[in-house]
Amino acid sequence: MEIKLNNTLIKDWNGYKGRPFLISGPCSAETEEQVMETARQLAELKTVSVYRAGIWKPRTRPNSFEGVGSEGLKWLRRVKQETGLLVGTEVANEKHVYEALKYGVDMLWIGARTSVNPFTVQEISDALNGVDVMVLVKNPINPDIELWVGAIERIARAGITRIGAIHRGFSSYEKTLYRNQPNWQLPIELRRRIPDLPIICDPSHIAGARQYLHEISQKAMDLNFDGLMIESHIDPAKALSDSAQQLTPNDLKELLSRLILRNASTNDPKLLDVLGELRQQIDVYDDHLLDLMERRMKVAETIGHYKKENNITILQSTRWDEIVNKVMAKGLAKGLSAEMIDAIFKAIHQESINHQMMVMNNGLKNPAK
Ligand code: PEP
Ligand code: MN
Repeated sequence: MEIKLNNTLIKDWNGYKGRPFLISGPCSAETEEQVMETARQLAELKTVSVYRAGIWKPRTRPNSFEGVGSEGLKWLRRVKQETGLLVGTEVANEKHVYEALKYGVDMLWIGARTSVNPFTVQEISDALNGVDVMVLVKNPINPDIELWVGAIERIARAGITRIGAIHRGFSSYEKTLYRNQPNWQLPIELRRRIPDLPIICDPSHIAGARQYLHEISQKAMDLNFDGLMIESHIDPAKALSDSAQQLTPNDLKELLSRLILRNASTNDPKLLDVLGELRQQIDVYDDHLLDLMERRMKVAETIGHYKKENNITILQSTRWDEIVNKVMAKGLAKGLSAEMIDAIFKAIHQESINHQMMVMNNGLKNPAK
C-alpha cells in the first residue's frame, strides 16, 4: 500500500541550499564556546542548512556525558541569531519537545532508541500537534521497516508537513567494520513505500569512525538520497561523545569537495534512447535467467524422483562441494565476484532441495511415468 503524507518537497523547506541538504554540528552541545565556534566555522562553508547539536544524550551506559540539558538551548538560539543557520536537536519525550520549541528550535529529530518505541513516538506526536516544525525520524536501532514507517505515520498524523527520514544504520550483535550496519535495502524499501519522503543519510553513526564517512556519503548520494547529517566538532579528539566519528568543519569541507553528485534522471532524448535499449536487453536476460532456473528445477525434481525410488537422501554433500568449486572457478574467470556466486548458488541449491522435498513428500508426480 502506498502511504500518502501531506509532505512538502524538500527543496521548498526553509534553509534548503541544494542537494545534499546538509545537517552538521557536534554530537553534543558541550560548552557555549564549542557550540558557537563550530557553528561559525560551519556557516562559512555556506552549504550547511541546519546546525545540529544533542542537548539530551541517550547513552548506552550510565555515567557517560548525558548532555547539558536546556541550558544548551540558549546557545542554539544564539547560533541562529548570529549565523543565520537553522538549528536542530534530538527529542526523546514531550518535555524535550516543549523545551526545544520554547527556544525556537527549527528541526527536531527522533533518535534511533526512541523510534523503536511507539508509546514514546505517540507522546512526541501529541506534543507536536498543530506545530509547524521540521521533524526527522531516525531508523529504529533494529532493522524493522514497519516500526520506522509507523513512527513516520505517527508524526504525520500530528499535521507535520516537513517530515524526513534519517538512515543511521542498524545495530548488530556481530562485530563489523562499521559501528552500525547500513542495510541499504531498508531505506531503499522506505523510498519505494513513501516516494515523496526525503531521506537523509547519517554516515557518522553508520561509520563510527572518520575514515569511512566519505565512502558512505558517496553511496548515499549514488542512491539518490536527499541529504546528509554529518557530525562535526572544532576539536573532535576532545569531544565528550562520539569522538572517533566527528570531523572538523574544515575536514567536512574537504569531504564534500570529493563527493560526486550524479543526476537522478536525464531529459536528453538520445541518452534516453540508448538507456531504453540497454534496459530492454537487461529484461531479456532476466527472462532467460528465470527460464533457465525453471528448467534447472525440473531436472532437480527428476533427480528427486530417482532418489526417492532408490531410497537415498536428498543432500549429497560431495556432489554439492563439487558444484560449488566448479561454479566458483568458472564464475571468477568471468569476472563475477565470489560473494555473488556464493549467494546465488546457495539460493539455487536451497531451492533445488525444496523442490526435491516436495517430490519426497508426494507433492509432485514423476513426469517420466
Ligand atoms: C545522535 O545523532 O547523536 C544520536 C544519538 O543518534 P542515534 O539516535 O542515531 O544514535
Ligand atoms: Mn552522536
